[in-house]
Amino acid sequence: MMDMSYDAIDVRFGELLLKGRNLGRFIDVLKGNIKSALSNEHYEKIVQSRDRFLIMLSDKSNANKIIEKLKYIPGVSIISPVIFTEPNIKSIISTSAKFKFKNDSVRIEAHRSDKSHAFNSKDIISAFIKNQDKNKFEIDKNGIHTLYINLMRDKALLYIKRIKGVGGLPVGSSGNCALLLSGGIDSPVASIMAMRRGLYPIYLHFHAFSTKKEIEHSKIPKLLLLLSKYSMASEVYYIPSHLFIAQTSKIPESYELVLFKRFMYKLAERICAKHDINTIITGESIGQVASQTIDNMLASQKGVDKLILRPLAGMDKDEIIKLARQMGTFELSIEPYREVCSMKIRNPGTKIPSKIIDRLYKNCKLDECIIETEKRIKKVTLRSVH
Ligand code: ATP
Ligand code: MG
Repeated sequence: MMDMSYDAIDVRFGELLLKGRNLGRFIDVLKGNIKSALSNEHYEKIVQSRDRFLIMLSDKSNANKIIEKLKYIPGVSIISPVIFTEPNIKSIISTSAKFKFKNDSVRIEAHRSDKSHAFNSKDIISAFIKNQDKNKFEIDKNGIHTLYINLMRDKALLYIKRIKGVGGLPVGSSGNCALLLSGGIDSPVASIMAMRRGLYPIYLHFHAFSTKKEIEHSKIPKLLLLLSKYSMASEVYYIPSHLFIAQTSKIPESYELVLFKRFMYKLAERICAKHDINTIITGESIGQVASQTIDNMLASQKGVDKLILRPLAGMDKDEIIKLARQMGTFELSIEPYREVCSMKIRNPGTKIPSKIIDRLYKNCKLDECIIETEKRIKKVTLRSVH
């Protein structure tokens, strides 16, 4: 529980403010996302100003739960529970007594969002120093805690917490993407990075199960629910791999993985066309495994007329794992999972020529296989439940 009662949650936009003339559109998307994330929470209303939202709380609000949800909303950069007071120095000083700092020293950081007041930030700090004997805490410019004061036109905001949000752009503001999601560590991290750039992911998961029930009981829906905290909901296409496996049973094993990737991309391309999507995202990282050499990535994506983005391209595995832990996907990612067997091939060549993949693709009749596979796709929508 919060140790005191707050009037509002202050939500700052961060990078969005660089948007110039388009700012309004981005703010609208962010507001819609926040409303949807808080649809089960009590609050009075959202008040918008130039660089922030104030989510006005009511008696029934649970500030902690609201903050917990806001932490996952891309586009939100800093979150602070705030107390309001009159925009004058006397009220600011007396209201500051509501914060309990034990015996530690406090630094005052004052800022004016509205500059029309007759006093400035320095005047506020001087007044606190003058009042030193009566303050409930010791003022020190190197203090352990910080009391933040923000002067707006009609009120002053007081707060002591600056909670980091995910930052970036609001989900949906850059359109949709097709996200190739495996059950592994990398692609969920890639998904969160894509969402932070404003993309709404439509997930494509190729699986080795024979019934929908088996997928539903696997870890994939759990992973998707976790990812939905960022995007509010998730749409997923569960795509069976058995037709591909049957069709490619006679090819040399060393080509199978790259051919399977080509198959995934070509099928993804068709789903993209239905949703007006122009980008496919993967969790690949240059050179991480043999299938992720530049040559093999090129061979797998040849002839795919979409922008293929790999947000983890330049990252080290340890960094990716660190992010997965921070974002909360790691534990599920390492749970055992029945992978598509073509993905498990350990020794694909590292320089597979595109031409060989072109030929195998044609000989195995994979265009027809894609059409047959499409008929067996199951589409599911999940809503965030946090
Ligand atoms: P990950 O940790 O994301 O599974 P990885 O290091 O295991 O990645 P690969 O198995 O080569 O690497 O997969 C590379 C990328 O291909 C994945 O990040 C994902 O985007 C995509 N991919 C792999 N398997 C599947 C699958 N079954 N369904 C959808 N996409 C997949
Ligand atoms: Mg994998």
